[in-house]
Amino acid sequence: MKRLLPLLLLPAAAQPAPVAERAAERELMALTVANLASASGASAKRALDPRVLGALRTVPRHLFVPPAAAAMAYRDTALPIGHGQTISQPTIVALMTHLLEVEPSHRVLEIGTGSGYQAAILSMLAAEVRSIEIVAPLAREAEARLARLGYANVTVRPGDGYGGWPESGPFDRIIVTAAAPYIPKPLIAQLKPGGRMVIPVSRGRNADELMLVEKSRDGTTRTRRILPVRFVPLTRER
Ligand code: SAH
Repeated sequence: MKRLLPLLLLPAAAQPAPVAERAAERELMALTVANLASASGASAKRALDPRVLGALRTVPRHLFVPPAAAAMAYRDTALPIGHGQTISQPTIVALMTHLLEVEPSHRVLEIGTGSGYQAAILSMLAAEVRSIEIVAPLAREAEARLARLGYANVTVRPGDGYGGWPESGPFDRIIVTAAAPYIPKPLIAQLKPGGRMVIPVSRGRNADELMLVEKSRDGTTRTRRILPVRFVPLTRER
């Protein structure tokens, strides 16, 4: 008798369970962000990527901030997350993600996990996200939070992200969410040809500049200034 081939049950792509709570506030936040982004000129050539807006509508930001800040979670503002660090302003998260042009097949590296919110946004757009956080308790909290909420394609590691994650590289996209004095060479090295990196570079006190690095097919890089921003500094492990 002929043996029947077992049916291959392919698991559905890991998707976090939808959160209905505060959906109306998220929707309003996404609208605000879309309006601001198109007014800023940073994405003047085209409207904010609808996939980025979809992720903003979906990821429950109120679950990424400390309980004391939860009431403010859907305002378009950065908020404290402890250890002197902050979760970035939603408009900035959206712009940086938009500039990255993440595709579903991409492997993305983030430096500065913080709350894990940006990683969650990326997780919805990419195949895989790796994120490094230098403050160990923040790394642990973000890792647990992302797992609890079902962002299964994100891996968090505590440590200094200056050197990137060479064992897992190269990456299609790299995002740095703390201001570096200059663009770290190891990160450029870990960017695939055709890759893009978005990184704030510090320009003196309280003034940073968001930069976009594009690596061409032949490996040469081009760096463009996008807009003035303010970030917490990229610190180094001693
Ligand atoms: N992306 C975060 C916001 C990050 S704030 C979010 O969505 O919540 C910047 C973070 O970068 C802080 O948590 C800070 O501790 C971390 N950081 C600073 N220097 C770093 C370094 N060298 N390597 C990794 N993380 C760093």
